[in-house]
Amino acid sequence: MPIKEQKFIWSNGELIPWADAKVHVMTHALHYATSVFEGMRAYQIKNGHTVIFRNFEHIRRLFYSARVYRLPIRHSIEEIMQACRDVVRENGLKAAYIRPLVYLGYGEMGISAPHEKAETMIAAYPWGAYLGEEALKSGVDACISSWRRLAPDTMPAGVKASGNYLSSRLIALEARERGFGEGIGLDAAGTVSEGAGENLFVVMNGKLYTPPGASSILMGITRDTIITLAKSRGYEVVEQALTRESLYAADEMFMVGTAVEVTPVRSVDRLPIGSNNRPITTEIQSAFFGLFNGETRDEWGWLDPV
Ligand code: PMP
Repeated sequence: MPIKEQKFIWSNGELIPWADAKVHVMTHALHYATSVFEGMRAYQIKNGHTVIFRNFEHIRRLFYSARVYRLPIRHSIEEIMQACRDVVRENGLKAAYIRPLVYLGYGEMGISAPHEKAETMIAAYPWGAYLGEEALKSGVDACISSWRRLAPDTMPAGVKASGNYLSSRLIALEARERGFGEGIGLDAAGTVSEGAGENLFVVMNGKLYTPPGASSILMGITRDTIITLAKSRGYEVVEQALTRESLYAADEMFMVGTAVEVTPVRSVDRLPIGSNNRPITTEIQSAFFGLFNGETRDEWGWLDPV
């Protein structure tokens, strides 16, 4: 999907023209993937205002990711949250995808060379449904990838590091090449982990199940949102390891994430999920989008005004 260029990018404390936001080819992060990032969305809500969805939780995760790889951010959490609001507002965006990135810049090439500071940039631009509007309605056809997700003692899956997305890229490319909409990775134990860029939920006998942190997943903020919304509607949500065959046995299945929002899964490995009648997925989807169209009250302070 092509990037829609905007006026400004926030870079190390200031808004600079989009075209000037450049790095040198010897930037450490380009060579060693020494970078961590976030993907967030701003929505225009019913009263016409623009809000960033769970700004704090995303930026807190960005700081956690940076801490694990020793990337010293020069700003506070509040400063980065404010910068996200500024970049949306100053570009005149009503709704946007927001991409903060923290990376090691130019100057040192040693893999473990200490860097006194990391660079931080934030871009925002309009971005529609990641797997397409049609997928939001009708669901995606997914497959189990031949690529496993990262084992817990290889690289931390709960850190949103750019390097983890090499695994996601292989999974997504394989899926597309085989004619599927999205690929799902198994973890080192052979149980279900997550999609290339999203967490998974299955519905069985009226209960929701989702793989736990130990299944090599990114602890998604949308996942947490869905767990909270489902529980508040009286559903039991169980975080447990899921076998591949439990997907085939599911009554319903859906993927969640900032990009895909809440997208139904129509089939896995060409086996249709349930009867493709999805009352609980539809209810959860409406509860999620209801946060923005005013039908779900934000009891949790998740909507951060721009
Ligand atoms: N897993 C992976 C691998 C992802 O890339 C994403 C998207 N960031 C998610 C899960 C969902 O995370 P979130 O809901 O925080 O966007």
